[in-house]
Amino acid sequence: MRVSEQPLITAEAIAARVEELGRELTVRYTGKRPLLLAVLKGASLFVADLARSLPMELELDFVQARSYAGTRSTGSVALSRAEDLEVTARHVIVVEDIVDTGRTVEALLERLRGLDPASLALCALLDKPSRRVVPVQPDYTGFSIDDHFVVGYGLDCDGLHRNLPAIHVMEQ
Ligand code: 5GP
Repeated sequence: MRVSEQPLITAEAIAARVEELGRELTVRYTGKRPLLLAVLKGASLFVADLARSLPMELELDFVQARSYAGTRSTGSVALSRAEDLEVTARHVIVVEDIVDTGRTVEALLERLRGLDPASLALCALLDKPSRRVVPVQPDYTGFSIDDHFVVGYGLDCDGLHRNLPAIHVMEQ
């Protein structure tokens, strides 16, 4: 497997879309002091840029979810730090790198719903709707993509390539 030479989504396109998402979120969340809850590790770069595109007061926290080994879904999801999350009565925006089958984020959303947030929204940089197994739909999506395994801008393949500034496809 190797990283495609040409990006699927350029760093410039990502930056422009993150700014747009920031504007959409600003309309809904100004004055609500939202909690951005980013899913480690993949959403770390996205949330760093997204948070800086939001001019209002907000809080930032992280949760870890693991469902993948290499490029294949394991079908099971482990959440860590979920017990420590203070989300009751908060306006929570879950920030994900990518929604694929939907299992990971649905497990997290279900956990959060049980903690009675004032509101709960999902903001995903990438969406692969053709791969969905669980019916979950992001409220805010950066880009919808076809069924590729992608890396860069926080997304990895076995721990590597998170630092690429653009999104690339892993090729055989
Ligand atoms: P799901 O539970 O929706 O199938 O998978 C979500 C998680 O799987 C994502 O948060 C991400 O960590 C990983 N994942 C799914 N598709 C991709 C992909 O194309 N590239 C990378 N690097 N990770 C992916």
